[in-house]
Amino acid sequence: MHSHGSLSRFLARTARAFTGLALAGGLALSSTGAALAQRVPIVRDAEIEALVREYARPILKAAGLGNSGINIVLVNDPAFNAFVAGRRIFINTGALMTAETPNEIIGVLAHEAGHIAGGHQERLRDQLERAQTMAIVAALLGAGAMVAGAATDTSGLGAAGAGIVSGGSEMARRSLLGYQRSEETTADRSALTYLNATGQSAQGMLKTFQRFQNALSLSGARVDPYRVSHPMPRERIANLETLARESPYFDKADPAALQQRHDMMRVKIAVYTQGQAAASRLLRGSTDSLAVSYGDAQATYLFGDLRSALSKVDALIKSQPKNAYFHELRGDVLMKSNKPAAAAEAYATAARLDPAKSGILPIQLGQAYLAIGTPDALKKAVSEIRKGLDRDRENASGYRYLAQAYGMLGDVADADLATADGHYYSGAYQDAKIFAMRAQQKLQRGSPGWVRAQDIINYKQPGKKK
Ligand SMILES: [Zn+2]
Repeated sequence: MHSHGSLSRFLARTARAFTGLALAGGLALSSTGAALAQRVPIVRDAEIEALVREYARPILKAAGLGNSGINIVLVNDPAFNAFVAGRRIFINTGALMTAETPNEIIGVLAHEAGHIAGGHQERLRDQLERAQTMAIVAALLGAGAMVAGAATDTSGLGAAGAGIVSGGSEMARRSLLGYQRSEETTADRSALTYLNATGQSAQGMLKTFQRFQNALSLSGARVDPYRVSHPMPRERIANLETLARESPYFDKADPAALQQRHDMMRVKIAVYTQGQAAASRLLRGSTDSLAVSYGDAQATYLFGDLRSALSKVDALIKSQPKNAYFHELRGDVLMKSNKPAAAAEAYATAARLDPAKSGILPIQLGQAYLAIGTPDALKKAVSEIRKGLDRDRENASGYRYLAQAYGMLGDVADADLATADGHYYSGAYQDAKIFAMRAQQKLQRGSPGWVRAQDIINYKQPGKKK
């Protein structure tokens, strides 16, 4: 497997252990911290993040929860789950792949926004807002694993959190994720208000909850954590249906262009997490030829002949020349073909066209410059990666590439500082402090880099005793 392309990015994990994870203060989680020393399967993907952000933005605005700076955290887990903490929305790839329409995800996000607006689990949410993204994911997956036992596939993709079945875990899970029935009713009603205010149907939310109510695992996992944390008794769903049908938007479908992007997202997740056969199954009977072609191009890039992949991507670009993610895929194919200069051009086009201005694309462009490796290209790598990190401050792998670029340029102080940041955003605070101290020895006291290093040295994990 190559180290630059989209598969490794898509399945980016950190091998860093979390020591003494104490996410929810006095919860039993602190005692399972050592057990949570595991890989955190966060997926970074500009296309999917932008789409989910678009789903969420109008809903959060209608809920009075602001409309800017939403971080989408994609968790590579086949079970169905979605959770909002502060400005961060955690959503499993399993949920995105399961949802047949954008409206199903939008409905789930509306319900979640209802919990936030209702002040449910406020104390927990305060703690989550202070915690690092990766620590939250570890805790959520750990909690899911406690429910599901070691029910994960053998491919390793869903294996995070496996085997964390310990005493007191059921209590930890309930404290972390469980809602009261009265809170569910409140969140349902709020969700309907937001959906009406944004002119959208509640049908997707209803459909999702009805399937859960029938005790079906939507994703094929043994237990979907979402169903466990949001109780779905029959009368709740019946009430929801009555109210949902009163809306003038009940039969309104998602815009065709949005549905197409949704289909492309689903097929992409299917190809990356379950292979080509799963993608074909997903699209069986699909009338959207673009989504089918997209899945085919992705699969050919990952598993097939690169020259053939390139011609498939070029056909996609011909049909939608301004689709940033088609150019991104072109860059991925060229990187895998060891053509970094051509890849840089493709990534630069992708970054320029990207309406969401994701930090991921400049970082990929920086990686292409890094692969070119000339002093001039390395300087461009530093500048592009920094641009990406300005937009995406928690991108741990971005810091590692930045450190590599500085290192190749002979700038040891900045390389150490970037390494410190990479560890910091991976939740590996001890390593972060070591590199921050190393960087400080070479940096001028009081300079911006020195101050940042000091912040890392001074950082105290929330809830952790000294
Ligand atoms: Zn709920």
